[in-house]
Amino acid sequence: MDAILGPIGEFWDGFLSNPVVQLASQLIVIYVVLLWLGTAYWAFRDMQARTENPILPYFAAALIIFFTPLLFIFAVVLYLIVRPRESLAEVYERSLAEESLLAEVEKNELCPVCRDRVDSDWLVCPNCRTRLHRVCPSCNRLADPTWPLCAFCGTDFGRESSRPQRRAASSTADAPPTDSTAPADATAEHARLRGATNT
Ligand SMILES: [Zn+2]
Ligand SMILES: [Zn+2]
Repeated sequence: MDAILGPIGEFWDGFLSNPVVQLASQLIVIYVVLLWLGTAYWAFRDMQARTENPILPYFAAALIIFFTPLLFIFAVVLYLIVRPRESLAEVYERSLAEESLLAEVEKNELCPVCRDRVDSDWLVCPNCRTRLHRVCPSCNRLADPTWPLCAFCGTDFGRESSRPQRRAASSTADAPPTDSTAPADATAEHARLRGATNT
């Protein structure tokens, strides 16, 4: 028995006492320890990017440390399974995309009053007669009714909207019958006519 084990043990002892082998094994141990600590740091930073909780990143790093340099790879597998799926940046990006999509739908596709589907270039909601846009008198492009001035040519609607009333007082010919201000113009015209007949 010793005749067989003797040479093997001698060879093994010689192999381990070889300075090159000793140096290589030391380097491997140092590398594995650095990998272990680096992985703990990675888990810390990764968890920081995935949660606003200030304690969880330390738990992630502690998990890696707890599994020792020999077994930490199992902790990495475990961490990859239980970590939050999305990073905070991805969550933010997704919510931003959803928000802008919602705003797009609400702004362009639905009537603000009756929530009926409308087209982005319609003037009036055909369902509830809400004024959706106005035509700029200067450049003839569609302007939002809430704009104080035309976004395309800069015409001030505040000054524009007071002009038709003055024009209605002087002549009734240019008041469009479909315009929502038509009844007001008509009563103004009646008042003017009555005033004219009274004097
Ligand atoms: Zn409507
Ligand atoms: Zn304009």
